Parts: sequence; C-alpha cells; structure tokens
Amino acid sequence: MIILSHKIQIKNPTVKQQIYFRQACGTSRFAYNWGLDQWKKQYDNGLKPTHFQIKKAFNAIKPVEFPWVFNVTKCAAEQAFSNLGSAFKRFFNGEGKYPKFKKKGQHDSFYLSNDQFKISENRVKIPKLGWVSLTESLRFCGDAIKILSATVSRIADKWFISISVQMETTPAKVSKSQADTVGVDLGVKNLATLSNGSTIEGSKPLKKLSRKLARIQRHLAKCTKGSKRYNQQKIKLARLHYRIRCIRQDSLHKLTHHLCQDFKIICIEDLNVKGMMKNHKLAKAISDMGFYEFKRQLEYKSSLFGNWISSVDRWFPSSKTCSNCGNKKEELKLSERVYHCDKCGFKIDRDLNAAINIEREGIRLLA
Ligand SMILES: [Zn+2]
Repeated sequence: MIILSHKIQIKNPTVKQQIYFRQACGTSRFAYNWGLDQWKKQYDNGLKPTHFQIKKAFNAIKPVEFPWVFNVTKCAAEQAFSNLGSAFKRFFNGEGKYPKFKKKGQHDSFYLSNDQFKISENRVKIPKLGWVSLTESLRFCGDAIKILSATVSRIADKWFISISVQMETTPAKVSKSQADTVGVDLGVKNLATLSNGSTIEGSKPLKKLSRKLARIQRHLAKCTKGSKRYNQQKIKLARLHYRIRCIRQDSLHKLTHHLCQDFKIICIEDLNVKGMMKNHKLAKAISDMGFYEFKRQLEYKSSLFGNWISSVDRWFPSSKTCSNCGNKKEELKLSERVYHCDKCGFKIDRDLNAAINIEREGIRLLA
C-alpha cells in the first residue's frame, strides 16, 4: 500500500473563491498561532499542555470571540491544532525546532479531511463554497483508491489543491531471469546515461533561467521592503521559482516514466545526495537535476508499473571500474570524461561505463 498525492491547479478561481481561500488560510494560521500562544502560556504556568485541550478551549470560545471561523470549512481551524501537536511531538523527539508562529505569505494553506470534500471529474466541492473548477482530473481513480485528504495552498498568485490517496499496490509480476534490465547513471553533464548507450539530457532550468532569477533578486534587494514595487518583484520571483520547478519536474517525470515503462529491472546508484551537496562545484548542478525527486518518482512509479528496482550501494566503484575487464582505477578525476583502462586499453564514455557497471552490480544483487 502506498500513499500518493496529486497537486492540481485550481482553474481561474473567481473573486469569491479567492476570498474564501484567503480566509480559510487566515483561519488556519490564526488557530495555529492562537494555539501556540496558549501552549507557551500554559507551559510558563507549569502546566503540561496538549493540542486536544487547546482545541477544546478554542472551540468553546469561538462562537463569541472568533465567529468568522464559521465562514469557512471547520477543517481549517481543526487541522491547525493537530499540526501544532505534531510540531511539538517532532520538537520533543529532537526531530524539529521549537514551533514558530505562522506568517502570512509563507504559510498560506488549509486542510480538508476526506469527508469534507467531493471530487467529480475536474471539479471539487468545498464546504461553504461549492464547486470549484480544476485544470485537470485526479490522475488516480478506481476501486483500489481511497481518498485520504486534501490541502489547498497558494504558490505565487496561483491556487492549488493537493489530493492524497492511498493505493493498493500490485506486486512485481516480472521474473528476474527473462526481464529487460537497464543501469542508470545519473549525471551532471546529462540527466541520465543508460547502460544501453542512450543519454537523456536534463533541462537544466536553473542554468537557463538563473540570469533572470539573479536579475529579479537584485531588483528586489533595491526595493524598500513592503513597498508596491517590492511586492511586485516578490510575486515575479515566486512565479519564476514555480516555473523552474515545473520544468524540472517535467523532465524527471519523462525520464522515470520511460524507465518504468521500457525496462523491467532498473538498476540505480543509491547516491549520497547530502554528501555530494557539500561539493559546491557539483552542488548546483545536482540540486538542479533533483536527484531526490528522481528517486521518489521512480519508487512510486515502479510500484504502479511493477518494476524491480535494484539499488547499488553508493560505495560501489561504478565510475572507477573498467566495464570491459573489471580492473579498478585508484583515482579518477571528475574532469576525465572518457574512461581509459590502463590494463586492457578499453576506452569508453565515463557515464556509460558507470551505467554498465551499475546494471551488472544491480543484477548481481538481485540474483
Ligand atoms: Zn579494462
């Protein structure tokens, strides 16, 4: 069983809908901040607060003190307290920082539990608002799907609804012996090099758009904070970030779809992305390519298509080993784009050599 989510843009929201979304986000933020404030006060008075108690206290006074919470879905305020509880739980477990107050412009979202909304084709029905048009239908459907929840949020000046579903997964149907296999080397020069010799170019959106990004950031730095121009530039920047993310996501979706559709066994290197991020030269290119996102997509798509994924340990010397004779080089500079074996004289593209080694090792691990 896996949990997937699909984020869909809300199609041309009307003024009434936009006001509702803003109000619901505001309600959610208010409830969270109110709860956090209560938590601090109770704690200072030597009490041990819980988010259940705080929610109860909020519900008791809301008809008189905060009647506007009834303008939007009850989930907006209710979920805020659960989120607060989770934030404190993470804090107490040492997994997160002490919860902070939510800010307008940074935390613009609200939650809907599955009994509070209805999905029909490319529409969603939201309590106290009615039907809202979406730019596309939910990509998951059928009896094996259970809708869990939704979150409405804002990116730049656009609104989105992210719908979470739980899905029964089909176990891999492929037998290991008769399967088509591929080794994938995720790279800096190309998005990916496959062991069959094909390469997939990355879109490198940041490289193309980074000059534009830098320009807007310079503009923003010159503007007075809070001024009209400042806010305009800020929206521009957020839009550009969103565009870059879309281009990046798109090229990764194409790659992972291709891999899952065309190969039964996919061998990948379990890259230590965090470790590589410390290498600043590589860092930009790597974050640009979105390796984390690649793995995430491959994992969920493989459970839908029924592929085997074989992860090769990141210490496996895929680049240093000769794919022809198995000789291992002690050192291989990053600048050496062509692998040249000292022992057998074999010459091969560096990334292709690595992809072939990853495929071999991946199959060996599965066997
Ligand atoms: Zn060799």
